[in-house]
Amino acid sequence: MRDVFIFIGALALVVQAFIGLSFFISCIQEKEKRASLFALFQFLVMIGVLIIYLIIAGAGFFHTAPGLIVLIAGYILALVSGWFLMHKTEPNTKALQGTKGLMIGPVGRFDERMHVFARNRTMRPGTEPYQTFYREHPELEANDARRREKGGPLGHLGSIDKPYEGPNVAGTLASLTIPFNLSLPRIVKPSQHPELKGRKFDLSPEEASRRLKGYARSLGADLVGIAEINPLWIYSHRGEIFHENWEDWGKAIPADHKYALVVAEEMDFDMIGPAPHTPSVMESMKEYAKGAYITTQIAAYIANMSFEAEANHLRHYTAILPPLAVDAGLGEVGRLGYLMTKELGPRVRLSAVTTDLPLIPDKPVDIGAEDFCTICKKCATNCPSRSIPEEDLPKEFNGTLRWKLDAESCFEYWGKIGTDCCICMKVCPWSHARTWPHRMIVRLISRNRYARRVFNLMDDIFYGRKPKPKAGPQWARYTE
Ligand code: SF4
Ligand code: SF4
Repeated sequence: MRDVFIFIGALALVVQAFIGLSFFISCIQEKEKRASLFALFQFLVMIGVLIIYLIIAGAGFFHTAPGLIVLIAGYILALVSGWFLMHKTEPNTKALQGTKGLMIGPVGRFDERMHVFARNRTMRPGTEPYQTFYREHPELEANDARRREKGGPLGHLGSIDKPYEGPNVAGTLASLTIPFNLSLPRIVKPSQHPELKGRKFDLSPEEASRRLKGYARSLGADLVGIAEINPLWIYSHRGEIFHENWEDWGKAIPADHKYALVVAEEMDFDMIGPAPHTPSVMESMKEYAKGAYITTQIAAYIANMSFEAEANHLRHYTAILPPLAVDAGLGEVGRLGYLMTKELGPRVRLSAVTTDLPLIPDKPVDIGAEDFCTICKKCATNCPSRSIPEEDLPKEFNGTLRWKLDAESCFEYWGKIGTDCCICMKVCPWSHARTWPHRMIVRLISRNRYARRVFNLMDDIFYGRKPKPKAGPQWARYTE
């Protein structure tokens, strides 16, 4: 019997060494020098322990009284630490209610005209909307005018890299053209195709949900969820105009669609590594373009089946997407103000389609992000404009509990460097490449509060508290 326990002990150490080796390989795949060195050291220690175990087992040590005590102590230690890190700790009941769980007071709908992008891109001096808006908000005019003079929210695109008008800027603009062209009013809010005119489609909510999700995935979405829309997450008034539809500016936006299909696409790990340099903004725009491609086709698909639908993507938003994504069960909103998904962390771009087609909503999820963010704060430590709050717990803002990003100072920094920064997204421990050791870690931190503390500390040790920008793929190289 004792030999069986000795054999199981050896097997456990082999498995542990295998995990150590996998993590070392994962760090090499991620091109993380520091983490690779720590992982190699960890792996060698594990191999050393295994060899010592095999030697003393071969010498019959575990058949002596002290050896038996060591064996029993080893088993107890392994079982207790395994249970400690793997059992499911108490759930976050607020997260399981979605955005409703975060509301602690009256919430007002947000006016898109107040959005820093809307103010800087849409407002043209001398026009009637300009005069109307700044008459009501004179405190914003001087700063917005200064920003506009410098080139808008992104300043001189790519100015952080030299020469700033290099190939990555050309690529960024190439992708940006797609959401622009796919934001014409007749495309974001399509009508039924003339060949199907008047034809009614009778789909059960289950079938419609299945078809829409399948179609979204086939078009390239990585994550898809359905939310029953809380009208509070619909903008109150239209503020961004990109075409000739100026009559829409300042119009109240009706919250008349009941459901939203929310999609998330993965941002490429290698392209985000160089953040805040130009590969990251090029990647952002590529994913926004993909979001426009997916959502406009889904909107047309729904319209062809005789229901109303409206695509929400980079150049046309009717809804605020992170809260919709939370209600669609895609994740939680983290300290950095982005959606945190279990599968890809904050390394995603969101887009959505709102519709009156009856669908089956998904359930909100608790992935442990709120608790992890309480202890981590890595995004706040690394934010160059100090826009991410550092206090432990979320605070009330407009009736909801959250860490409130200072959008003005964040965009101020974007304007200085000419990219959308992405440092917070890059440094987040949930953003690592989804190799299987990282998947395993995410499973643990999603269910266990002690694992969150252990792996938060390990992330700082292995990857550093303040990681530097990486080189990125050879084809998208940049020069500082
Ligand atoms: S870096 Fe840390 S604190 Fe910031 S969002 Fe990610 S997990 Fe939360
Ligand atoms: S994008 Fe950059 S500046 Fe903005 S909050 Fe994130 S780290 Fe800070």
